[in-house]
Amino acid sequence: MKIEKNNSIKAVYSYDATGLEGSPEGVIFAEKVEDIVEAIKHATKDKKIIVPRGGGTGFVGATVPPKNSIVLSLEKMDKIIDIDEKNLFVEVEAGVVTGKLQRVLESIGYFYPPDPSSLDSCTIGGNISTNAGGPRAVKYGVTKNYVCGIEAVTGKGELYIDKRKVRKKSVGYNINDLFVGSEGTLGIVYRCLLRILKKPESRTLVLALLKSLYEAGKKIEEILKGIQGTSALEIMDITSISAVRKYRSLDIPQEVEAILLIEIDGYEKTVKMELERLKKLLGDTEIRIAESEEEEDKIWTIRRAISPSLMEIAPKKINEDVTVPISKLAEALVTYKKLGEKYGIPVVSFGHAGDGNIHVNVMLDDMKEKQVYRAEKLVFEIFSETIRLGGVLSGEHGIGITKKKYLPLQVDKNTVNLWKEVKKIFDPENILNPHVIF
Ligand SMILES: Cc1cc2nc3c(=O)[nH]c(=O)nc-3n(C[C@H](O)[C@H](O)[C@H](O)COP(=O)(O)OP(=O)(O)OC[C@H]3O[C@@H](n4cnc5c(N)ncnc54)[C@H](O)[C@@H]3O)c2cc1C
Repeated sequence: MKIEKNNSIKAVYSYDATGLEGSPEGVIFAEKVEDIVEAIKHATKDKKIIVPRGGGTGFVGATVPPKNSIVLSLEKMDKIIDIDEKNLFVEVEAGVVTGKLQRVLESIGYFYPPDPSSLDSCTIGGNISTNAGGPRAVKYGVTKNYVCGIEAVTGKGELYIDKRKVRKKSVGYNINDLFVGSEGTLGIVYRCLLRILKKPESRTLVLALLKSLYEAGKKIEEILKGIQGTSALEIMDITSISAVRKYRSLDIPQEVEAILLIEIDGYEKTVKMELERLKKLLGDTEIRIAESEEEEDKIWTIRRAISPSLMEIAPKKINEDVTVPISKLAEALVTYKKLGEKYGIPVVSFGHAGDGNIHVNVMLDDMKEKQVYRAEKLVFEIFSETIRLGGVLSGEHGIGITKKKYLPLQVDKNTVNLWKEVKKIFDPENILNPHVIF
């Protein structure tokens, strides 16, 4: 095990997607499980913090290394170990890039559904640690629904292994589930076993152009109730559409306030039937149907480009990923917009609306104290309204360091105390990401 102390390497591993900057003492690139065990022993002896890292695409500062820390990168442990076509499982090392795994599986007729928009840079280990979702979660669920086995090193430097190729299990506490969403605080996942599915036979993608944001929220409710094979249901508000316009002329009429991306998948016959049902449900709403796979890809590229292209609106952003019950979605979308107007700060909403999960982005011209103070008050109101509507602070990004202060809005003290007790069992010396979640 080698600790890289070169300044240019440390600089690269000082950030995540928030743009916040940390200062690690070094970086370890694990190549095998023994490197991880050794890193933990070293950290325990020298009282250092270990920051596990996959692709570094996290949005909550969880991989931004604090002082006295060492980044432990899993990026070199990126093998696809085994694709078991008989039992429909894939076994991988944690550093495999999600998009690469998906492409390999799809090339032989299989499908790993969790599809975060960062899929070409994020890793399965990072996805497990954040319980990542994506557009297709609306039909197929999130990472949690596919993790059937985990191999990890705990904060004690001990191995935790629970990995069986079974689809059901009811044997004691489900510790695998505890790892999912634990943001690197319990152990370092180095291998895992994931369920895979047969690739759906057919897909269709429809764009619906809505004249009101509220109406778009309500339509989502109706689509979820009425259209069986809905495999993705995304929303883009008008500001996010303008931000990505430069990638492709979308030719959207001025009066449009929101676009819905509706994907239906399944058997060809069923997809055709459901498409007709969708057209009926949407009535007078203007729709565009992707005519080819190429057109579908272009639309998804535009959707994935929203986050990076928000720079077109303002150079800085505070990016939240609240989730509300579907029945409150329309109200939430309008509330966030009005809050932005109240503070005179642009608020952009887009994302996995079919799960009630909205990426609410508060856009800032600069990070000067006065503007940041107002923006933080606005974020506080966004979270408070989300909780009032029965929602949660995060649907997929996690709490990290950026949302810690808002945690009491949603989670009571007794629950946080239980979390702390759980962490102590896995990591008694408090060396694994002790600065995140609580
Ligand atoms: C443009 C863009 C779009 C995005 N879209 C989505 C989206 O649609 N859905 C979504 O869910 N997220 C999305 N994200 C957020 C991010 O990509 C996810 O949170 C992703 O799961 C992080 O994976 P990563 O490998 O980059 O993890 P990192 O950012 O490296 O780490 C994330 C967390 O996991 C921990 N961790 C990483 N690897 C391990 C490991 N092997 N063992 C233990 N802990 C580990 C880290 O310590 C940290 O707490 C997006 C991000 C960007 C930049």
